[in-house]
Amino acid sequence: MEPKVSVEEGWNILEDLTINADHFQQKLLEEIVTKNAGCEYLNKFLDGQADKETFKKKIPITNYDGIKPYIERIVVNGEPSDILLADPVTGITLSSGTSRGQAKMMPLTNKQIDLLTYCRSLALSATCKFVDGLEQGKQMQLLFVRPDVYVPAGLPARPILTSYHKSKNFEKYESSLYTSPISTILCLDSKQSIYCQFLCGLLQRDEVVCIGAVFASVLFRAIRFLEDHWRELCSNIRTGHLSDWITDTGCKNALSLMLTKPNPEQADLIEDACSSKSWEGIITKLWPKTKYIDVISTGSMAQYLPSLGFYCDGLPIISLPYASSESFLGINLNPLCKPSDVSYTLVPNAAYFEFLPVMEHESNDLGLTQKHNKEEENEPVELANVKLGRCYELVVTTVTGLYRYKIGDLLMVTGFHNNAPQFQFVRKQDVVLSVDVEKTSEDELLEAMTKAKLLLKPYDMLLTDYTSYADISTVPGHYVLFWELKIEGSGDMPEYNPTLIEQCCSTSEEHLNYLYKNCRKGNTVGPLEIRVVEQGAFDALMDFYISKGSSFSQYKTPRCIKLEEAFKILDSRVVGRYFSQKVPA
Ligand code: AMP
Repeated sequence: MEPKVSVEEGWNILEDLTINADHFQQKLLEEIVTKNAGCEYLNKFLDGQADKETFKKKIPITNYDGIKPYIERIVVNGEPSDILLADPVTGITLSSGTSRGQAKMMPLTNKQIDLLTYCRSLALSATCKFVDGLEQGKQMQLLFVRPDVYVPAGLPARPILTSYHKSKNFEKYESSLYTSPISTILCLDSKQSIYCQFLCGLLQRDEVVCIGAVFASVLFRAIRFLEDHWRELCSNIRTGHLSDWITDTGCKNALSLMLTKPNPEQADLIEDACSSKSWEGIITKLWPKTKYIDVISTGSMAQYLPSLGFYCDGLPIISLPYASSESFLGINLNPLCKPSDVSYTLVPNAAYFEFLPVMEHESNDLGLTQKHNKEEENEPVELANVKLGRCYELVVTTVTGLYRYKIGDLLMVTGFHNNAPQFQFVRKQDVVLSVDVEKTSEDELLEAMTKAKLLLKPYDMLLTDYTSYADISTVPGHYVLFWELKIEGSGDMPEYNPTLIEQCCSTSEEHLNYLYKNCRKGNTVGPLEIRVVEQGAFDALMDFYISKGSSFSQYKTPRCIKLEEAFKILDSRVVGRYFSQKVPA
């Protein structure tokens, strides 16, 4: 398979893939099983057989914990990677998702990078089908990489997109579409990188047709960076001289080719736009030919839509890919739809997909308990057999040694494109809070609360109820916990020392997962806040949910508040606000 397909071919390929979805799924599974059946992991179950029917019968559905011992043998003991997969492993992919405090590690192969290139070019074709003139302009995509770390076996470990941006494929097939020269993307100092990428984007502002970043949160933060740096960027453009604090050689070299002479006219135009009192619609003012914003704004990213909408002045905000460290997964084939209607079509030759019907005792935002599917229907089904309106947990078999592996995402079937189902992303299994790339599950939040409330015990205080809220109105965003307290043995509101609650904030943070702490250290998540609410606040919250349809006996306090009205009920009853005073170790 050619890693890159042309824009013209792309849509036809997508049609073929979706018309013959089951054929491509079976073919891919056959290839994966034939190639890898001799690996220790598979052979243990297949016992010398190498056909896909035996695979479906005998290989257990697993999650990260199931493959972790094999990964550790490869990355720590330096055992050959063919205990898990036949293809040569070129590195280790670090996932941003966390399983109980640790980033997941997965094998990286050249084949995976080729597949990613292929799927990304299909996604671009899908956009070009609906947005005219895209190929005539450039995309200002704000892209970043993380420094490599090396595992004991000597392999580089990094996020999948860092591997992709460092790959030959990216350089050869994609980088010419973008305003950012590769060296500015690969710069390891994120401040110099973003500054230079903005400078390049402003210097080519009349060519820019699309502005994007991987996630909505990244673009939102980038615009806040622009708010702080536009004067300096203007001055660089006015004088034709790059700021002296840009010391990265790659950035300096790239800019020396673009910032070649003073351009006071452009600087005036940019200054004019940026110095206006409100930044409403700033994107279209600075980059007037922009046709759309390209950021993932589904799932936990939906919370950034109102803020981005303000800056983008009605431009379509397109969520195009659905992907994970494990594999590229799907493409939104109707990119101009409303953000709330986004569905993804899984690419049938990207991975072999199975779906576990969700017996969902889903504690949703309404505090309701729902049971979607009948008990007897709990067997995994293939792509061709999912049912409209049903919820499933996604299971993948990939070219990188993951077999029947649960990614942890809940999806709902919303329709079909030809014979391929389309899925709405419902939520990450278990995640309640996320303001940046970190994700905190209900269990992790509970564990942190359990540790923090121990500090109350010596003062005879009890935490009677709690919930949380991801506050992204601040930059960086931060976690807010609503706490209702009482004196043990009485219904009274306790007198407390503010320092005690501040300590509870930092203790909570210390017991959150490592990615949360990393984000705190990098200041992409702000200090955790506890808002103490008056007595009865959580009763009022329950009354509200019951009035919305939740039954009294089934009501559970939602552990994360997403409804505006529910938030107001608690926030209007706040009697004190306290912040963590230290960055967690
Ligand atoms: P990671 O492997 O750490 O990069 O995270 C991948 C996860 O990000 C997926 O399993 C999803 O939970 C989430 N994700 C990726 N793409 C999307 C999308 N388009 N919409 C919603 N969530 C997404």
